[in-house]
Amino acid sequence: MISHTTGVASEPGYTIVENASLAGRNTFRVPARAEILIDVRRTEALAEVLAIPYVRNNPLLILGGGSNILFTRDWPGTVVCTATHDIRIIDDYGQAALLRVEAGESWNDFVHWSLSRGFVGLENLVLIPGSVGAAPIQNIGAYGREVSQFIVTVEAWDRHAARLVRLDNASCRFAYRDSLFKHEPDRYLITAVEFLLPREGELRTDYAGIAEELAAMNCAPSAATVAEAVARLRTRKLPNPALIGNAGSFFKNPIVAGNVAAELQREYPALPTWNATEGARKMSAAWMIEACGLKGTRDGDAGVSDQHALVLVNHGHATGEQVWALAQRVQNEVYERFGVKLEPEPIIV
Ligand SMILES: Cc1cc2nc3c(=O)[nH]c(=O)nc-3n(C[C@H](O)[C@H](O)[C@H](O)COP(=O)(O)OP(=O)(O)OC[C@H]3O[C@@H](n4cnc5c(N)ncnc54)[C@H](O)[C@@H]3O)c2cc1C
Repeated sequence: MISHTTGVASEPGYTIVENASLAGRNTFRVPARAEILIDVRRTEALAEVLAIPYVRNNPLLILGGGSNILFTRDWPGTVVCTATHDIRIIDDYGQAALLRVEAGESWNDFVHWSLSRGFVGLENLVLIPGSVGAAPIQNIGAYGREVSQFIVTVEAWDRHAARLVRLDNASCRFAYRDSLFKHEPDRYLITAVEFLLPREGELRTDYAGIAEELAAMNCAPSAATVAEAVARLRTRKLPNPALIGNAGSFFKNPIVAGNVAAELQREYPALPTWNATEGARKMSAAWMIEACGLKGTRDGDAGVSDQHALVLVNHGHATGEQVWALAQRVQNEVYERFGVKLEPEPIIV
């Protein structure tokens, strides 16, 4: 029952706040409000929460750490935040183990948990903000690794069937910054993720300066030293959302057909490209944005980071609408010059 004086109700397993501010719940730190915000601390409470008449009859948004979302408006309904916590080994095979992690755990805390217990695999994915429950949504990736390489099962509340379901890796249809969940945002609420992590495995050090960083650190490669090298690289290259609002890379690297890439490379030999899916190439969006002279540009308090051209930032008091207007300007200028359409990586609300 919501108190009329405070607008808050605390139930076993969840808390409801009316007319809640979301400014502290998105890493862009743009202002936005939700008619109702519900923090769910126990998965068993989900059925009850989703059956509340207001929740059933109004738009629903699921929020994790708010590090991949841009609010351009208030949310005219319910925001459900997964606040469940637990990390557990459910099967130990010796050389590897099956782990279950609740959706509300911090991704970076889980990476450190896995490294401190001798597991290998997640070291390149250190320091990515956000929750474990959101990690499968865009199949988070960095420094040559993607989370889908380690996911066995995603447990989710299926809002169509009104029950918990278990999706195996193939059913999640993981791709570059993409998954089934991105295409069915109104269907699945991820409650837990199960990972298979080895205790020994190949390290990925051939990507974006890791080997050079290890050499500078004077360290032999191990899961822990690779994580440290990646953390140092990320800290140098990416603006820290604790200091300046941002959501990491704002645009995906566009994937274009091989012949289009070849033509662009003839015209712009310095444009970095990488192999993508069969016959296609991934192009550096940051390079294209910088070539348009947009790195460090500002429209009021909305800006393109001067540290990394792929990151849009909030210098202080930008609204989500202003950040989105700047994003569209970047898209237009890149399209006019290169004929390539940049797609945003965060969810735009
Ligand atoms: C500084 C910085 C660096 C970053 N670096 C990287 C990087 O290297 N690689 C990378 O891939 N990403 C990166 N990101 C983006 C972001 O950290 C990830 O996408 C992360 O997984 C988002 O988690 P979140 O909990 O904050 O999700 P949110 O922003 O809260 O939500 C993102 C989307 O997932 C949905 N969602 C969230 N939780 C659930 C759930 N439990 N069930 C169903 N849907 C859910 C939301 O509805 C929304 O659509 C970076 C962001 C920042 C700020």
